[in-house]
Amino acid sequence: MKNNKPVSVAIDGPGGAGKSTIARILAKRLGYIYVDTGALYRAVGYAALTAGLDPRNAEAVCALLPSLCVELTYLEGEQRVLVNKEDVSDRIRTPEVSMAASAVSAIPEVRRFLFALQQDMAVRHSVIMDGRDIGTVVLPQAQVKIFLTASAEERARRRYEELIGKGMSVTFDEVLRDMEERDKNDSERATAPLKAADDAVLVRTDGDTLEESVERIYRIVEEALA
Ligand code: C5P
Repeated sequence: MKNNKPVSVAIDGPGGAGKSTIARILAKRLGYIYVDTGALYRAVGYAALTAGLDPRNAEAVCALLPSLCVELTYLEGEQRVLVNKEDVSDRIRTPEVSMAASAVSAIPEVRRFLFALQQDMAVRHSVIMDGRDIGTVVLPQAQVKIFLTASAEERARRRYEELIGKGMSVTFDEVLRDMEERDKNDSERATAPLKAADDAVLVRTDGDTLEESVERIYRIVEEALA
């Protein structure tokens, strides 16, 4: 960090491209804080499901927001997300919550609700922040912007292995279908759709090992900050 001014690295891209794994490793290496913004949308989706609401029902979800408290905290360097003071970090990783997150993220009031929290993190700390609209909307002033992607099959394969590794019972076809549906929702929504910022560096991770992707992105960050 130069001149004590916090550095912001924005990593956007579709689900399963490797954003969170790569960002977490790079944040440790650079001494920055890793902010997983998807967890915030998952938290709102989870809160909607827990309240018995249809996450696509914008009116009902908006009515929930005034009484909803979403916070980020860090435990041994790992981000945890709290909903009304309860740590829901593990419970927001199910396929059901993924779909709910995608649904609530299309609601402009939900995006506004989570906006200040994300910006505030970047004002106070050097961050690597991943999401869908970080380089375009949340941190347009970020010193480094990366758009990370891979084919839908490759991303579904990684997500499938991750879910199976966590003991969940899913099929590859279900994961691929959910992935394609979320890609469509995220890219076609009217507010802050998933898209690369004009000044983002495009990185495709098909065929790369995790180490290769980390190295490629580390070099991009180093060059941009040099
Ligand atoms: O990254 P992750 O898969 O956890 O994100 C869950 C969902 O949250 C995405 O499908 C997307 O709809 C939404 N999201 C978003 N903007 C972000 C991060 C996530 O709309 N910055």
